[in-house]
Amino acid sequence: MKALLLAAGAFAAEGSGVNRNFRPGNGVDAMSGINIPVGPIVLLGAPGAGKGTQAKLIAGHYGIPHISTGDILRDNVARGTDLGRKAKRVMERGDLVSDDLVNGMVADRIKQPDCDRGFVLDGFPRTVAQAEWLDRELAAKAGEKKPTVVVDVEVSYNQLLQRLTGRRTCPVDGKIYNIYLQPPKTEGVCDVCGTQLFQRVDDTEEVISERLKSYERQTKPLEEFYQKQARLRCVNGDQPVEKVMADMFRAIEGGAAAAGSE
Ligand SMILES: [Zn+2]
Repeated sequence: MKALLLAAGAFAAEGSGVNRNFRPGNGVDAMSGINIPVGPIVLLGAPGAGKGTQAKLIAGHYGIPHISTGDILRDNVARGTDLGRKAKRVMERGDLVSDDLVNGMVADRIKQPDCDRGFVLDGFPRTVAQAEWLDRELAAKAGEKKPTVVVDVEVSYNQLLQRLTGRRTCPVDGKIYNIYLQPPKTEGVCDVCGTQLFQRVDDTEEVISERLKSYERQTKPLEEFYQKQARLRCVNGDQPVEKVMADMFRAIEGGAAAAGSE
């Protein structure tokens, strides 16, 4: 348990007490009397939109845990929990881990006390069914329905394509470059160890364009689900990082204030 908290809460620990934007009197949880400045946040964004990095920055800024489904899956497998053992058997067969298993792991994680003031979900929910499940789970947890703030970082298709097809990796130390955005000092060669960089097979244009289309197909219904309930907040991801982050913090605080006033 400690390992899980350490892993998932690493940024929370770093960012604790940072909470610069908290305004006293806002978002006070009547149930527990604990200040909840942000609450649950769902982060949506296409592959290549920088979602993982943004989730970490949000977690650090507000001192809340960053919960990535990839991380909690690996953690459950490593700790050999019931769910982790089941997931391991499924993955060893080469199958995808079912919604039920992933939901179970998310449920366990968001029950941890470090999630009381809020958390950032990265990679979850992926379907409308999971979004509905999350709403029920949160309602049960807090004893009342708490709207989730859903931030959708939108990056234009061409920009995403460039970010993803430009990726080059060092086979020795795993360092990642981007020939357009973050090129190595010498073309085609790792800055650290001088090894020839390579492009992963799944970073080619055909594969990426298919992945983006499939993301679009899968996520559209999810966006509509949140949009209909006025819970979706779109942030323009085609801007410098600082501007994206500022817009994102504003979206989160606006959303948290709206949720608290209901
Ligand atoms: Zn290298």
